[in-house]
Amino acid sequence: MADTEMPCPFCGSHDIIKPLSQNDAPFVECLDCGAIGPLSENPGTPTQAWNRRAAPSVDVNGDQTCPFCGEPKGEVVEATKWSREWIICGSESCGAFGPDGGITEWNKRHAASA
Ligand SMILES: [Zn+2]
Ligand SMILES: [Zn+2]
Repeated sequence: MADTEMPCPFCGSHDIIKPLSQNDAPFVECLDCGAIGPLSENPGTPTQAWNRRAAPSVDVNGDQTCPFCGEPKGEVVEATKWSREWIICGSESCGAFGPDGGITEWNKRHAASA
């Protein structure tokens, strides 16, 4: 299987950045919406972690579950310093970040291409 990134599960962008070296943080990031893919823990590359897709589902609040691992969302992280707000995945072993823009953006899902 080629080590090629799938489009962003939130916005569908192909404009994504992946770690270039061992020293970079081990995740893939979407340059359009700011979403960050799951941390790659061995084995597997950041690209493989990014390419994980869970079946679409909703949590008890009716919000989308993590598009990567399928776990319910975690807390809302506010970074007032940058006036940013985003949702992190509730699964510690995943660690994905939703797009900049909080729950509204988190609940967006790019229609999966067949
Ligand atoms: Zn995106
Ligand atoms: Zn997750």
